[in-house]
Amino acid sequence: MSGVAVAIDGPAGTGKSSVSKRLAQALGARYLDTGGMYRMVTLAVLRAGVDPADADAVARVAQSVRMSVDYHPDGDRYFLAGEDVSAEIRGDQVTGAVSAVSSVAAVRTRLVALQREMAQTPGNVVVEGRDIGTVVLPDAPLKIFLTASAETRARRRNDQNVAAGLPDDYDGVLADVRRRDHLDSTRTLSPLRPASDAVTVDTSDLTEQQVIDQLLELVKQRSEALR
Ligand code: C5P
Repeated sequence: MSGVAVAIDGPAGTGKSSVSKRLAQALGARYLDTGGMYRMVTLAVLRAGVDPADADAVARVAQSVRMSVDYHPDGDRYFLAGEDVSAEIRGDQVTGAVSAVSSVAAVRTRLVALQREMAQTPGNVVVEGRDIGTVVLPDAPLKIFLTASAETRARRRNDQNVAAGLPDDYDGVLADVRRRDHLDSTRTLSPLRPASDAVTVDTSDLTEQQVIDQLLELVKQRSEALR
């Protein structure tokens, strides 16, 4: 029998990834990061020398590429034709092209099928992305939509960049956050938006621990209601 799924959606920079990971740990649940899969297809597109804006060519890559995700408690490993690309998919080149690639229908069809399959684990699962509550797992018993202002998200990302030795460029990061928000929320297919039954949590003025505490409380309430 399958366990309970928690769907977590929202834009980049809301703390979604670390919150989802820590929530999964606290619940003893499997964690699935669907953004990593879109990044993996994007890397395949770039490596094939295909223009990310050429939807037909992107679709051909998405249909033919051999890819897999291996579960690992410290973070899943992503394999492209057998090669571990888990680090490379987080790079700037992939980040710059992923919104275009993820707006192609054939990419979404293939990845949504894979995500549904992977979410069918025997235990509980926390699935993180942009369209989990609306498209991938519309029957998930708990759907969370994390938000934060664009400025807060840009500040967090810029701080992370600086800590990682990258240049301090708040304005550039803010422009990128806005560009990706616009592309992700205005695309025709599965635009980024909360499911009608999602609980929205604004993380702008909350610490990560406060967000996790709120989510754990929501999981508790929902589990009690389902009993
Ligand atoms: O979460 P992350 O920033 O790694 O996601 C990278 C990109 O993948 C997003 O900007 C979005 O374009 C795409 N994505 C998506 N649907 C998902 C997860 C990610 O379109 N479920």
